[in-house]
Amino acid sequence: MSIETQIQSLRSELREHNHNYYVLDHPTIDDFDFDMKLKQLQELEAKHPEFFDPNSPTLRVGGEITKNFNTIVHEHRMYSLDNSYSKEDLLDWEKRIEKNVDGTVEFVCELKYDGASISLTYENGSLVRAVTRGDGTQGDDVTANIKTIKSVPLQLKGDYPDKFDIRGEIVLPFDGFHKMNEERLEAGEELYRNPRNTASGSLKLQDSSEVAKRPLECLLYSIIGRDLGFTTQFDSLDKARHMGFKVPEAAKLAMSVDEVLEFVEYWDVHRHDLPYETDGVVIKVNSLQQQEELGYTAKAPRWAMAYKFKAEQVSTRLNEITYQVGRTGAITPVANLKPVELAGTTVKRASLHNADQIAKLDIREGDEVYVEKGGEIIPKIIAVDLSKRPADSKVTQYITQCPECQTELVRQEGDAKHYCPNYNGCNPQIIGRIQHYISRKAMDIEGLGGETVALLVNEGLIFNYSDLYTLKKEDVLPLERMAEKSAENLINGIESSKQISFERVLFALGIRYVGETVAKKLAKHYKSIDAIANASNEDLIAVDEIGERIAESVIEFFSSEENNVFIEKLRIHGLQLELSAEKLANQTDKLKGLSIVVSGVFVSVSRTELKKLIEDNGGKVSSSISSKTNYLVAGEKMGPSKRTKAELLEIPIISEDDFLLLVE
Ligand code: AMP
Ligand code: ZN
Repeated sequence: MSIETQIQSLRSELREHNHNYYVLDHPTIDDFDFDMKLKQLQELEAKHPEFFDPNSPTLRVGGEITKNFNTIVHEHRMYSLDNSYSKEDLLDWEKRIEKNVDGTVEFVCELKYDGASISLTYENGSLVRAVTRGDGTQGDDVTANIKTIKSVPLQLKGDYPDKFDIRGEIVLPFDGFHKMNEERLEAGEELYRNPRNTASGSLKLQDSSEVAKRPLECLLYSIIGRDLGFTTQFDSLDKARHMGFKVPEAAKLAMSVDEVLEFVEYWDVHRHDLPYETDGVVIKVNSLQQQEELGYTAKAPRWAMAYKFKAEQVSTRLNEITYQVGRTGAITPVANLKPVELAGTTVKRASLHNADQIAKLDIREGDEVYVEKGGEIIPKIIAVDLSKRPADSKVTQYITQCPECQTELVRQEGDAKHYCPNYNGCNPQIIGRIQHYISRKAMDIEGLGGETVALLVNEGLIFNYSDLYTLKKEDVLPLERMAEKSAENLINGIESSKQISFERVLFALGIRYVGETVAKKLAKHYKSIDAIANASNEDLIAVDEIGERIAESVIEFFSSEENNVFIEKLRIHGLQLELSAEKLANQTDKLKGLSIVVSGVFVSVSRTELKKLIEDNGGKVSSSISSKTNYLVAGEKMGPSKRTKAELLEIPIISEDDFLLLVE
């Protein structure tokens, strides 16, 4: 078999497995075998870049960085939907339709998936573009990110129209959402509020490999184009399934409004069994001919109607308002409720968000309140039943002191929340910060868990992460549930954290707004903690992707005398406070100040390696060509539009070999 055939057949086999797994939820190969085949393909492709295919299954892991998303005008506008709320609304709609079309009218009922809308363009069976809805007329080109979503076919099956658009919704199923939040919890990061916002936020991430890690799915509902080979919406769904798209099976034909309502009632109950969120039903006229006769209003098709499910609500008594202090010192008011059943779970607490929210709704202890469970994990209070307010009820006075350490709270302009400023003396903040320090993505200290940290702090054994390194086995042995062996593991775990790389130490310090990515950027740019500590505001802002907010926070962190003492202790204990010699050895300033665009496929280095070479040599990789670009490194199969633009702006176009000479 020729190499090319071998590559092609691996690709189509892997495609089929992806389809079975991600679209049909029915894998026919085990993970190990799949990974082996993928690896085999990766190796072949690396050796034979001449057979490059932008839609190869190996490119699902992402890696492409989009700095600015290009605006794309939709060839067919992406409309909204009109909403209906009652049987009467639907009957009125049916009457309007019957007045305007000939023949009997059939409806298709579909679920209304709650995520971010997307329009995919396919040409000759390949995905060529994915664009967000935007304002309906134009959206953002998010192709690189969408390609990482495994249920989006990159290459279609069976027969398909030459060119068409297909519309759908990117959703984040509950399971995946909860898993992401568990990881954030462990990493000490703020939790995502709901699957919908997380899904739509994901589409605009700059690093597509980050998107690849998120368990997003794409559910399709509408094909648009010419000569499509079907005449009804219902058939189009089936056709889409055959081409390899994920189209939920719930869709059903209905001959009357009564049948539509049966569908609504059924799903109003059973939607809780679905793996993803739905917020209603969409009813569409089945015949495409009739759809065309009906046309559009300025905002929505006349042939479709949304019917929103009512958000589930109950009323219960608000017993007490308490206040929680987070790792960053942020205060969150919490409503403690008389336990009540809501959407299948018992609810005891609801978030009150902040002081303004309490004032706006005039929420008071003793009130009967309406609780709603929308997409959010924590239910919220949406109103007070004033008719049930007790005569002796008192307006809620928001606390002015920290409930944990009694320090006067502050609220900065523009912040919705109050903060306890007692950074180094407030127990939940101290504990939270050390828990963050030891967490998996930070120092990953084995043998030490979050609860033990709380014990150590509450017993007065440590006040800061830097104190961990003075702990001895004898200190921790007396702690609850601490045996000889576990004490030893703990001390060993702490000891080995001294080898953790500088960028992770920097992340572990818990500087506000300095997450994993920012920590990496700063470490790479400044190379040592002292250089960061000495950097000025302008200097920090000049670093790629570091904004005002981060710069201020970094400066504030290092201007605290206490923090400097902690860092000094870490230094004495031998932690990595600068980039290792090995990392530094590969770094030069040869490309300092240069902005370089990389395009196409390369022979002696991979695209990722090339980008890394640019960064290691002090240059900046940029994704699109502008007058600020210094070089365009052109590989094989470079996009023609990039070349034209570079020529237009007279940007030097250099080959892979030229580039390698530059950094040699
Ligand atoms: P709205 O944003 O409330 O006007 O609702 C319109 C949006 O509903 C569309 O942009 C779609 O993204 C989304 N939607 C979800 N499921 C469907 C479906 N089955 N058919 C049509 N639109 C849907
Ligand atoms: Zn406090």
